[in-house]
Amino acid sequence: MELQISNLSKTYPNGVQALKNINLNIPQGMYGLLGPNGAGKSTLMRTIATLQEADSGSILLGDLDVLKNKSEVRKILGYLPQEFGVYPKVSAETMLDHIAALKGIANNKERKEVVEMLLQKVNLWDVRKKNLGTYSGGMKQRFGIAQALIGNPTLIIVDEPTAGLDPAERSRFHNLLSEIGENTIVILSTHIVDDVSNLCQNMAIICLGEVIAEGKPNELVAAIQGKVWQKLIEKSELDHYRADMQVIATHLKAGRPQIHVLSDERPDTSFEATEAGLEDVYFARISEKMEVITV
Ligand code: ADP
Repeated sequence: MELQISNLSKTYPNGVQALKNINLNIPQGMYGLLGPNGAGKSTLMRTIATLQEADSGSILLGDLDVLKNKSEVRKILGYLPQEFGVYPKVSAETMLDHIAALKGIANNKERKEVVEMLLQKVNLWDVRKKNLGTYSGGMKQRFGIAQALIGNPTLIIVDEPTAGLDPAERSRFHNLLSEIGENTIVILSTHIVDDVSNLCQNMAIICLGEVIAEGKPNELVAAIQGKVWQKLIEKSELDHYRADMQVIATHLKAGRPQIHVLSDERPDTSFEATEAGLEDVYFARISEKMEVITV
């Protein structure tokens, strides 16, 4: 099964064109949707999740027309939104039971088994009786995954999941996501490049409502391998380098900026070759797109 998005466009009433003719084929497994804030990721996620309308275009999940059969889609969809509100005075166990009932698991025994299995899976079994309001950010996210998994969804959408999680919680959350990715389409929308390189077999980069790169992370990186050069500079020189070359990233090394430049040839002997990473792909594509816009 594949999710096929064709010619999808959306303009908000205030005139912001959030999606401009988006075309994507999303296969099974973990799919990373990477883009800066305001790129249109949430608009796309909410449209796939049947929570808002597009102006034009189509979305097919296998044979199912997502935009026309919303109630069918909701039965096979797991959605973890960016802002995941919880009822603070309800326990995880009670809330999952309630959501499972809403999702159509009417049989009490079956529902109890599903809830138990999910609480074990996301490692919240020991705290299942505690009110959700007492949970940490990471525990809330794991609860969010548990509720998204009810009903064995074939499509799971996770929007900006790791914001506010500490490194240990983030890694636990990643392990959980990669476990469920095997027989399902999992779309992970994020602005964190490492999350995509660590987790996703396929990906797209979107910026200003358009797809500006698509493919496998390692293939996108391979395409610029040998073309990324680095140099330690003084802060005051940054504008000069930006004017002369395609500076795709700046990192601080012991307080001094280290620039990454994209160029077929070594810019000069003061630059050294460096191994390209997905972050270089990301910033190169974003900077090219932004340059086109500002010129
Ligand atoms: P992302 O999730 O990548 O940060 P969004 O889809 O939230 O991007 O936003 C894409 C663009 O659409 C942004 O310019 C944002 O300000 C605008 N936008 C999002 N939601 C609305 C809305 N309900 N009304 C008007 N503009 C919106």
